[in-house]
Amino acid sequence: MVGEREHITNLTKFYTLLLLNETPRHGYELMAKLGEKTGKKPSAGQIYPLLRNLKKKGLVTCQTTMIGDKKKKVYALTPEGRKTCAMIMTRFSDLVSIVLGPRLTKCAHCGCKVYEGGHRERIEGKTLMFCCVHCAHAYKNTIRVIR
Ligand SMILES: [Zn+2]
Repeated sequence: MVGEREHITNLTKFYTLLLLNETPRHGYELMAKLGEKTGKKPSAGQIYPLLRNLKKKGLVTCQTTMIGDKKKKVYALTPEGRKTCAMIMTRFSDLVSIVLGPRLTKCAHCGCKVYEGGHRERIEGKTLMFCCVHCAHAYKNTIRVIR
């Protein structure tokens, strides 16, 4: 059991919090969703100890509800759990910008980061990257005004 528990990665823990941040969920629903997100579906022997651990830390609550004639446990984040989730998200997005930083392009008009897609346009012989068509328009209007 202990060995199995060690296979639970921080990523799984992070996704569990994110999934519960969206909406309260049943254990089996969490397992299926985690499988989708991480590509590796955790077993009941992994997810329940993880949830118990999060509950012990006061991040998650567990309520038993009756669905039909079946008892089901629904897990939800506590206010503390939501705070933790928000903190992890901030750290995670910092990490993402560190990793992607050199590959990120900035919109030539508003300066926002363009991760993918974006709008490329050739203006006065230079290919510029914008986050959207509107920024490209605004940019062209601006240089027209400057001249
Ligand atoms: Zn822009």
